Amino acid sequence: MNPYEMACIQLERAAEMINLREDIVEYLKVPDRVIEVKIPVKMDDGRIEVFTGYRAQHCGIRGPYKGGIRYHPNVNRDEVVALAMWMTWKCAVVNIPFGGGKGGVRVDPKKLSESELERLTRRYTAAILPIIGPERDIPAPDLYTDERVMAWIMDTYSVYRGYAVPGIVTGKPVELGGSLGRKSATGRGVAIITREVAKLLGEELKNLTVAIQGFGNVGYYAAKTLSEMGAKIVAVSDSKGGVLNWEGLDIEALFEHKKRSGSVLNFAENITNEELLSLDVDILIPAAIENVITKDNVRDVKARIIVEAANGPVTPEAEEYLDKKCELVVPDILANAGGVVVSYFEWVQDLERYFWDEERVNSELERIMVRAFEDVVKTKNEFGEILMRDAAMILALRRVVKALELRGIFP
Ligand code: NAD
Repeated sequence: MNPYEMACIQLERAAEMINLREDIVEYLKVPDRVIEVKIPVKMDDGRIEVFTGYRAQHCGIRGPYKGGIRYHPNVNRDEVVALAMWMTWKCAVVNIPFGGGKGGVRVDPKKLSESELERLTRRYTAAILPIIGPERDIPAPDLYTDERVMAWIMDTYSVYRGYAVPGIVTGKPVELGGSLGRKSATGRGVAIITREVAKLLGEELKNLTVAIQGFGNVGYYAAKTLSEMGAKIVAVSDSKGGVLNWEGLDIEALFEHKKRSGSVLNFAENITNEELLSLDVDILIPAAIENVITKDNVRDVKARIIVEAANGPVTPEAEEYLDKKCELVVPDILANAGGVVVSYFEWVQDLERYFWDEERVNSELERIMVRAFEDVVKTKNEFGEILMRDAAMILALRRVVKALELRGIFP
């Protein structure tokens, strides 16, 4: 399904549950602003190649727009608008003062040299410069963009202003005003939410088994933090396959093994990604890519709890089935919001020019994630038998609608 249509369906579904006025729903379906820009780049062989880029700003009613920039051949207008809309809900669920934004360039970054990538980034930044800024719209990394790309964006923007503006992007190198704890934030947030789910269900993490699909940034830090909290991580996978040990995997040793060999394979009993998804574990954490639990394989899933660390790993049809079978499916807009929360801390530190130690970052992250979880559970209890995703959407919508009301747009 077109991601924008999917985002609108999710919005309509939650709006109907709270009898939201039709005119507000229509208002929220449309982004505040989208720009499409032409990016001419001088390639290493002397040719000029022209790329297309976008920046979408969905709803700035609660604060500046916030969201990543992706470099991918599939980037298009509908995709960035949908992703920006999801960012609006994610920021509202955790109650940080941002609206949703997203940007991207239609390009296969693997085909570009480092210097071509730098020229592309600088030209794209110049093209969207009129609508970004630390008070207006603050980009961050997303698919195939990293802290090096953020440093180029910060430099381009700062050169234009005439002074260093670290608050223009988050996910920067620490030496340029990045935040300690940013790298681990999403995985740590996933672990905090998983711990809170266990508590809600009256269980102790140390008695629960966990399988994690994906051992990249999010999967690794979720595994590390959860095992520090006492959970038994029995299976982990990457794009090449997975490993299983019912006695529990040593996550640090596995990380070293992956660093050495390029994959988690052969660290313990090898399994496929499909086998990992159907293991008889208590908690399954998809932390790799979207659409991995679908109507075709959902009947094989045996986990009692699913925590969406990746964006969109469970399709809507699969979720309906899981709703009847599982105890809880924790939606991405809550479970993986730790990244944007620490991005918020990075922005605050940049504006104040006062930097926190990692302990403070982690304890403030803990506070915000636990509060968001409690708010979502309270909303779910208010409605009875609804999906946790719907509860999170309703919570976010109410916060956005309240701001629209107070600002007098929909009095
Ligand atoms: P990453 O590139 O660091 O790691 C992705 C991992 O998934 C790798 O281990 C890769 O081998 C594995 N993988 C890829 N395809 C797979 C497949 N078909 N089956 C199994 N494993 C596969 O990415 P990341 O930053 O860890 O992001 C993971 C997910 O979390 C993405 O959906 C991303 O959008 C989402 N997310 C990330 C952040 C963040 O701060 N990094 C924040 C919010 C959401």
